[in-house]
Amino acid sequence: MTIAQRAPDYIRAISPYVPGKPVSELAREMGLNEADIVKLASNENPLGMSPKAKAALLAAVEDLARYPDGNGFALKQALAARLGVGLDTLVLGNGSNDVLELVARAFLDENSSGVFAQHAFAVYPLAIQSVGARLIEVPARNFGHDLAAMGDAIAADTRVVFIANPNNPTGTFLPGELIESFLKQVSPDVIVVLDEAYNEYLAPAQRYDAVAWLAKYPNLVITRTFSKIYGLAGLRIGYAVASPAVADLMNRVRAPFNANSLALAAAEAALADDEFLQQSYETNRQGMAQIIAGLDKLGLQHIPSAGNFLTFKVGDGAGVNLRLLKQGVIVRPIAGYGMPEWLRVSIGSEAENARFLAALEQAVRA
Ligand SMILES: *Cc1c(COP(=O)(O)O)cnc(C)c1O
Repeated sequence: MTIAQRAPDYIRAISPYVPGKPVSELAREMGLNEADIVKLASNENPLGMSPKAKAALLAAVEDLARYPDGNGFALKQALAARLGVGLDTLVLGNGSNDVLELVARAFLDENSSGVFAQHAFAVYPLAIQSVGARLIEVPARNFGHDLAAMGDAIAADTRVVFIANPNNPTGTFLPGELIESFLKQVSPDVIVVLDEAYNEYLAPAQRYDAVAWLAKYPNLVITRTFSKIYGLAGLRIGYAVASPAVADLMNRVRAPFNANSLALAAAEAALADDEFLQQSYETNRQGMAQIIAGLDKLGLQHIPSAGNFLTFKVGDGAGVNLRLLKQGVIVRPIAGYGMPEWLRVSIGSEAENARFLAALEQAVRA
């Protein structure tokens, strides 16, 4: 037996997460100039980060010889004030990916199972599997979560259900009322994770206040991130809001200092910059309209998206993706999500969107 074979079967069965292709990698592979590459593959903010966040980050550089505040007091205080919750409801993570794993670590083991939807965010099965729990994947309905079927799929040993709203990579959205009625029906012994990574991109008419539900549903865990609209993906900072008893368990299994000093400082400043948030929202709204118009012109089907990305059908996803890469445009193939005929594009700046649409026209014609 090799040393690798000594790892548990469920670990060896994990298929690794496939991230969007980095600009530097494509430049190397295709002999392209990095400056000429457009990356619309990881739902990043085309405006970058808030100038206030950048200033806070640069100031925090001075103190990097010291450990971060392991409790993230200043950021938690800012979040608590904004959300109207107590500090004891917050869990900070090295990206919200980290807090999703903390839920799995705190509530799942080899004798339990986790429920998630087909075409949902790839981190849910990874988090479930990495602690040896059983995967229960529920078929999607119109590319989105089928909450009735997810409720039915909950088994006696199910401890966690993951819901992404909006979902990535499909962009599908569930109105708040549907999620609340799901919470009403689910056993209070099952944790319901509501992943709101794209919450800030919701149109005013779509918004709902999940944090207010915590008082009624102590089994609810809401996760959010600074990676998307706040433009801090490279810093890795996200958080969960949960009832104090649940947050306490998640904090116990958290690695000490999982949120670094630069991320804590930048996130706190980013949270206070409403102007940048609004500008990012508008940029996305306009870019989404631009890309939808372009796809319609090319006659390509797309799934209505509530996020900062759009998933569209090209037939030969791998082929079209390769032809886009050759033109220096990186989008996200989603064959790994069971959608080999589709590609996902993140909404960029007006110029990036135009580059993407021009390259796509070439790529689908070929
Ligand atoms: C991007 C994303 C996240 C979080 O990413 P982090 O960078 O780890 O915060 C979480 N959930 C969904 C659905 C996402 O698309």
